Amino acid sequence: MKNMGNTLILTCRKLIFIISVILFICPDTLIAATEIPLYVLVTIDTETSSGCHGTACNPVPISDRIFGRRGGKEYGIPLIMDLLEKHGMKGVFFVNSTLDSYYPEVDIREMVQSIVRRGHDVELHIHPEFRCFKYCDEDDLKCRRRCTKGDNRLAGNNVAQQKLLIDEGLVNLERWAGYRPQAFRAGSFSADENTLDALRQAGVALDSSDSGPHHPLSRKYPINQVSMDDGLLEIPIYNFMTFQVTDYQQYRRFDLESNTFLELKSVLQQAIEHKAGTVMTIMHSFSFCRPETDCPNTRAIQNFDHLLGWIANNQSIRVVTIPEWLQYYSGSPEWVSGSGYVPTTGFGLTLWRAWRRWDEGPKNKLLIITSGAIFLLVLGTVLILLRSIFSGRFKMQTHRN
Ligand SMILES: [Zn+2]
Repeated sequence: MKNMGNTLILTCRKLIFIISVILFICPDTLIAATEIPLYVLVTIDTETSSGCHGTACNPVPISDRIFGRRGGKEYGIPLIMDLLEKHGMKGVFFVNSTLDSYYPEVDIREMVQSIVRRGHDVELHIHPEFRCFKYCDEDDLKCRRRCTKGDNRLAGNNVAQQKLLIDEGLVNLERWAGYRPQAFRAGSFSADENTLDALRQAGVALDSSDSGPHHPLSRKYPINQVSMDDGLLEIPIYNFMTFQVTDYQQYRRFDLESNTFLELKSVLQQAIEHKAGTVMTIMHSFSFCRPETDCPNTRAIQNFDHLLGWIANNQSIRVVTIPEWLQYYSGSPEWVSGSGYVPTTGFGLTLWRAWRRWDEGPKNKLLIITSGAIFLLVLGTVLILLRSIFSGRFKMQTHRN
C-alpha cells in the first residue's frame, strides 16, 4: 500500500516536471489552450462578369468565372472548397443574387447547391447591373451597355429602392440554397447608409460592405473592428498598412489572391498578438483563374494552400462560417469585435510582393525599378564618399612621408 502511494506521488511529480518543462520551452501552449482565438472568415465573392467592352456586353458563362473550367479541370469554387476541406475548414460564399437575370435558373441552383451540399456557407451578394439583362434584348447592345453603366450600384438609391433589391436577392438565395442568408456584401462594395437601413428593414443580421479606410462607410465605422449599429452588425474587410511615409499611409485589403503568404502570415500574427478578434478576408470565385491574365494561377493557388496549412497548425486561429461567427459573437461580443488594431507589414514585404508579381502589372515593375535605382544611387554615393575619404588620407600620408 505504502509502495503504491510512493509510486503515485513519484508519477505525479514526474508529470508536473514534464508539464513545467513544456511550458518553459513553449509558454504559448498554455495561452493557446485557454485563450479565445482569432476568428477568421474566408469569404469568396461568387460571381461572373457582365463582360462589357466597347459597345457590347457578353457575360461569361458560369462554367468560366465561377467553376473556372479549363482543360478538363476546375480552378474555381470546386478547387477553393477542395483546399479549404483539405485543411478542415469551411468558406463563406457571397453569391451574386442577380445571376438569374441572364443565366438559366437550373444552372444557378446547381452551382449554389454544389456549395451547400459540401457544408459551406452561402450568403447574399448583389450586383444590380445584372438586372438590366432582364429587359434588354440579346442583340440590343446599346441598351445592355447603357443599363450596366447607369444602374450599376446600390449606393445612391433611396432606402425603398435598395430594400426592393435586397428582398429580391434574399428570396432568390433562399430558393437556390434552401435557407435564408444572414449576411450581405454589396457588389463592388457599393453601399451607403441607405443600404444599412434597407438591410435592417429586410432583417439581415450582418453587413460586410465596408472595405476599409477609403470606403464612405469607414467615416461611420472604426477600421478593423466589428460594430453593432442599431441592430445591424458591420464586419469591415480587414486592412493592413504596407508602410508609412510621414503622414502618408498605404493601406491594403486582406485579400487572399494578391497578397503574398509572408504578408498574410505577418498580418495574422500581429492580429493575434493585438487581439484583433475577427479578421474578414476576401477573394473571388475567379481568384485562381482569370482569363485575362492567368488560368490556372499557380502562384495564387499555392499561396492559398500554404496559408490555410499554416492557419490549420495555429491553435490561436479558428476559421468560421457566418452562423458560427454569430454564435461566438453572442457569447463574447467584446472579444470578437476586436481591438481595431491595424497591422503593418513594412517596405521589405511590399518589395517582395512586387518581385513575386513582377509580370502582373506596371506598378510592380515601377516599384522594383525605382527601388533598385535608389539603392544603386545610394550605393554609388557611399562608394564615391568612401573613395574620396581614403584617397584624401592616402594623400595626407604621402605628404607627411
Ligand atoms: Zn462582387
